Amino acid sequence: MCGDCCRGFGGTFVDEQEIEAISKYLDMDRATFLRDYCHWSGKRPLIRTAESGYCIFFDKLCTIHEVKPRMCKLWPFIEGVLADPANWTAMHTMCPGIRTDVDKEELTAHIRQELLKHSK
Ligand code: SF4
Repeated sequence: MCGDCCRGFGGTFVDEQEIEAISKYLDMDRATFLRDYCHWSGKRPLIRTAESGYCIFFDKLCTIHEVKPRMCKLWPFIEGVLADPANWTAMHTMCPGIRTDVDKEELTAHIRQELLKHSK
């Protein structure tokens, strides 16, 4: 809940289901959500970053927590760590919640479980 992963310009992509869920949560139509809260990276919409450098939905905490995108729900249990467990240690410098004194097999098993839980 530090918000560190809600800062920066890496970009939080939203897919169709997420656009639908967030628009409904904000009580607006899809087009308004896309216009007012997203920008585009090629053909893919990303949630906007505010001038503060934080995600536009960050205000001490995530203001759309109930419907936040899959990539936010998963962090830091991401596919990239399965591809190379060394990424876990690299991510430690950006995320104070990441402990590096963990068993890598237990970690990757947990990540697989989380990915499965949040798969679509
Ligand atoms: S949607 Fe919520 S959890 Fe995801 S980056 Fe924005 S404020 Fe953070």
